[in-house]
Amino acid sequence: MSVQSVLDTIKENSIQFVDFRFVDLSGRAHHITLPATEVDAETFVNGVAFDGSSIPGFRGIEQSDMVMMPDTESVYVDPFTDHPTLNVMCNIYTPDGERYDRDPRSIAQKAEEYLQTTGIGTAAFFAPESEFFIFDDVRYESSMNTSFYTVDSEEAAWNTARKEEGGNLGFKVGVKGGYVPVAPVDAQQDIRSEMVRLMQEAGLRVERHHHEVATAGQAEINFRFDTLTKTADNLLKYKYIVHNVARQYGKVATFMPKPLFGDNGSGMHVHQSIFNGDSPLFYEKGAYANLSEMAMHYIGGILHHAPALIALTNPSTNSFKRLVPGYEAPVNLVFSKGNRSAAIRIPVAAVTPKGCRIEFRTPDSTANPYLAFAAMLLAGLDGIKRKIDPTALGYGPYDKNIYELSDEEKKEIRSVPGTLNEALDALEADSAFLTEGGVFSQDFIDNYVAFKRQEAKSVDIRVHPHEFSLYFDC
Ligand code: GLU
Ligand code: MG
Ligand code: MG
Repeated sequence: MSVQSVLDTIKENSIQFVDFRFVDLSGRAHHITLPATEVDAETFVNGVAFDGSSIPGFRGIEQSDMVMMPDTESVYVDPFTDHPTLNVMCNIYTPDGERYDRDPRSIAQKAEEYLQTTGIGTAAFFAPESEFFIFDDVRYESSMNTSFYTVDSEEAAWNTARKEEGGNLGFKVGVKGGYVPVAPVDAQQDIRSEMVRLMQEAGLRVERHHHEVATAGQAEINFRFDTLTKTADNLLKYKYIVHNVARQYGKVATFMPKPLFGDNGSGMHVHQSIFNGDSPLFYEKGAYANLSEMAMHYIGGILHHAPALIALTNPSTNSFKRLVPGYEAPVNLVFSKGNRSAAIRIPVAAVTPKGCRIEFRTPDSTANPYLAFAAMLLAGLDGIKRKIDPTALGYGPYDKNIYELSDEEKKEIRSVPGTLNEALDALEADSAFLTEGGVFSQDFIDNYVAFKRQEAKSVDIRVHPHEFSLYFDC
């Protein structure tokens, strides 16, 4: 959209405010709002100033002045404000007019530019499946539940969903209906449909929504694939709408990977493929899962770099509580068609040549999508450039349930890192694929590792509720 079209949109929709947004290191959005009367063509040339030193992980106090530069491609009307407001995503620049090397959105754009310079393809497409839970908001409900802290999670999770003290004592519908139950077990059809309605109004092309496997209240809404930065923008829009519709219903949504011990967590599987113009480069009829050699090398790159990559795709201490066996979350660094226990699945049902893609199942929604998508693309491209053959390196294909392999067979299989700190160790040891083409700077990686180590430490030094069960009566 041109600047003039944005100004026309402001006029035609009687927009009163324009909301300039950027993301921080962890992928959270921040905003500064200008009255529409203060916005003109100049605003799109000069940008909007803000204090970078107040954003965790950005600049020091001595060099705090930063500039948000709006991207006119990303505008949409905010569905939640009382006063008509236009939201626009921004890149962050230094006062000297340079792209700020810690700005996640700039890194995502640099990754797309880098793809073009390799000559491998013209565009990479991404589609995340970002799962989440909808819980009762304790600000609205008087009975605070304790399920987040208890050891006997199954019982607690049931009680949470039933919203009643003492459990289900009457002849009532159970709440653990499994995958895609209909109402009344699925009590959140209307909330999800309202989320979808607003997503569509805000320009997302939503393909479907459904109840997920975990205890009542786990949801998933799928929107259509797009190029890298656009998909990351779309994910920000998706999360913004999910959080705020939940709030309108007196609920709270969380994308935390493992809010309930003993039940499925929430993943963010990411489907990805590369095109050259209109031609899909991952398809080859008759090959394993109809995957081209290039797609195999992309898989090789992702699996080879996975321990380091996971520091960006699963960047929270909670991420590693999801990555345990038995809950459809991948633990094993292998690939397979159809198999949901593998880190990389190749969807084979109803797939056309253009729809041919790989699904990396490890990521979760604590990932900053701009950084995570860029890092996945760089890992895959490194695999293509170095012709990393995943089969020769022992990554599969494994077409049986990996959770049920014998101990002998399991020994052959590499696993995801067990903690955030292990993933950060792997990133420190293997980061050259990220600095390729100057997409990530070394300063960014060093700063990121330090920032995340601090986060891990802040969790480690706190007393955990489970320690009371283990040690209180010693
Ligand atoms: N919730 C599962 C996960 O943590 C995935 C379920 C599914 O296959 O959609 O990845
Ligand atoms: Mg799912
Ligand atoms: Mg999936």
